[in-house]
Amino acid sequence: MFKKLALFTLSLCALSTQSLMAQNIVQEGHYLFDANKKLIKLIQSQGDLTIDHVGKHGYEVYGPNGVGLWLNDLASQLDITIVDLEDQHDHEAMEKAFANYPSPSEIEQKLLELQSQYPDIFKLFSIGKSGNGQEIYVVKLSDNVDTDELEPEFKYIANMHGDEIVGREMMILLLEDLTAKYAAGNSEVKSLIDNTEIYILPSMNPDGAEARRRGNARWSDLNRNFPDFTTDNRNTPSGRQPETQAVMAFQAQRKFSLSANFHGGTECVNYPWDTSADDFPLLELVKDLSNEYAQEVPGMKNSTEFPGGVTNGYDWYEVDGGMQDWSYHWYGDLQVTIELSHQKWPNYSTIPQYFQWNRNSMVRYMTRVHQGAGFKFDTAKSGRVVIESAGMFKKQTIGEFTFGDGEFYKILEPGRYTFTVTDSNGKQSSFTTKVTTQNGNFKPNYTKL
Ligand SMILES: [Zn+2]
Repeated sequence: MFKKLALFTLSLCALSTQSLMAQNIVQEGHYLFDANKKLIKLIQSQGDLTIDHVGKHGYEVYGPNGVGLWLNDLASQLDITIVDLEDQHDHEAMEKAFANYPSPSEIEQKLLELQSQYPDIFKLFSIGKSGNGQEIYVVKLSDNVDTDELEPEFKYIANMHGDEIVGREMMILLLEDLTAKYAAGNSEVKSLIDNTEIYILPSMNPDGAEARRRGNARWSDLNRNFPDFTTDNRNTPSGRQPETQAVMAFQAQRKFSLSANFHGGTECVNYPWDTSADDFPLLELVKDLSNEYAQEVPGMKNSTEFPGGVTNGYDWYEVDGGMQDWSYHWYGDLQVTIELSHQKWPNYSTIPQYFQWNRNSMVRYMTRVHQGAGFKFDTAKSGRVVIESAGMFKKQTIGEFTFGDGEFYKILEPGRYTFTVTDSNGKQSSFTTKVTTQNGNFKPNYTKL
């Protein structure tokens, strides 16, 4: 077995042509009925293999061509059944289901139509190109949409795994829903859009979606391709996939405080960390947000696999190089991963039902970005800020963060907080502010410095 292992590792090295950075090539997918997780440690130790959706019967394993032979050999010695995920598909039925989904150009048309219908609140732009040259589109939804206003910034990203399509469709339906309700004068939606800068990225992996596969045009798993603070710990784009680089550059330009990314394969909300057993710094807050999302979605609330429809990422299975951990570790942008559907690519006719199940949770989650506080300088200063809870008896440090462009905002649990701000010239100022649960009319909570 050891000889085979060594050979396999060698072939993986040969595949990593771009750099030593893990690219997690996902040309083959297999399901291992390994209920007792006998092989999981060995597979995890192979750096370049991807494990996903660990459940009570087993888990998915993705890797480069040839991984199936290697897995079959190991599994046969332990009496573990393996099925090739490709063989599992009813290809004819899938072709039918696939045919009903909009193509990337039809999605582009739809987004352009919405922009021309609602030009005051809807702005479509591209943050870069996929490996095959498709635009990676983002929609900004806000009043005075051409102006960068002093409002909390929120984002949704869907479809980073090309074969997990429900999220992409949810984003299009959400954009249609919010614009129509805004135009009709719905007070909840109006208040949200008028006081928030919302960014929605429907398809981070359009090449994967077009080919109906997990990886991008280079077969790379994008949710293993972000900087990982427990391994490479460098927030640098070089050597990463084009789609990862586009999202990294976009994040660096903005000041997101709350985000989520959508997946498929099961139904639950997965909160950080994914890569470490340590407690997440804002654990109570992230649990609260996750529970709130899950409790309105029937498949999550009634889940037998995940109590209440939520799970900590690391408790479920370790993910290195995932987007949600990267987002908070480097930018203080709290992000969860939302698994929307057991079937990754369900029949298109079921899409409205998924939207009905998730619509209110998606909107409610967005409004939670207003439960926070921030500050604004007159000039585009940079520096760092320490946030402490200002309890009566004991001060507790929430964290230390950097800021740029003279602006900072953070979502927090309700309470009183002291912000101690040090600009890049060493000048210090501090203020105390109150964070409350925001219902209804949001007033962006910024202190002018
Ligand atoms: Zn996924």
